[in-house]
Amino acid sequence: MPRYEKVRAVVVGSRPLGEADRIAVLFTREFGRADAVVKGVRKTSSRWGGRLEPFNVCDLVLFRGRSLFTVTSAQLVEMFKHLREEREAMTVAAVACEAAATLFAPGEPEAEAFALLEAALRMADKGVDGPALQAPLLLAALVQMLAEAGLQPALDACVVCGTEDGLVGFAAGRGGVVCARCLGDAAPLSPAALAALRAAARRPLDELAAAPPSAAVAEGVRHAHGLYSYHTGLRLRALRFARH
Ligand SMILES: [Zn+2]
Repeated sequence: MPRYEKVRAVVVGSRPLGEADRIAVLFTREFGRADAVVKGVRKTSSRWGGRLEPFNVCDLVLFRGRSLFTVTSAQLVEMFKHLREEREAMTVAAVACEAAATLFAPGEPEAEAFALLEAALRMADKGVDGPALQAPLLLAALVQMLAEAGLQPALDACVVCGTEDGLVGFAAGRGGVVCARCLGDAAPLSPAALAALRAAARRPLDELAAAPPSAAVAEGVRHAHGLYSYHTGLRLRALRFARH
């Protein structure tokens, strides 16, 4: 195994390490999530500048240590200037980053998920209308990231009996929609939220980025988040403080 790895990465987050260092949480195109030490980044004279700030896309050389990587060089590829200035856009970006960082087992190439994450950041950087939770872009980023991870919600037919009529519930534990007869303890699903989920799963991200915000989208986000939580055992922190 090579000791040095060249990767393209989105910086999805970071946490302090000791007095001067940080651990950068990266989502790489080459092998998914990687946590990497960035030495000296918290010193005012740091040679890293702002290159390893969250949401930036960088070309990195990583040294592969026993348990962690260390960033040995970083070149900025793309930075999204507006994301940090607009709370709703930042929430959309943070959800996409957090989903990418938590949905995929590390070590596998993730070219499609990486491209999706980059696209979501680029769209969010153009601005988000209304609250993030109601943004079709947020729902699409989450649903399409779930699909990349093999967790595409079933939206066409009841996951229990197969009927395509009267789909009135979403059963996260069963992976999709259910009809009235099979409802059980599934969450109620409105027709508008079903339509929003279907659009999020099927339409291109740039089309959805231009679609208007709605309460139906926010309901769709709740269901998609239910599916995410069922499979990962996690809740998306980026949604916790999102404005309704
Ligand atoms: Zn049914």
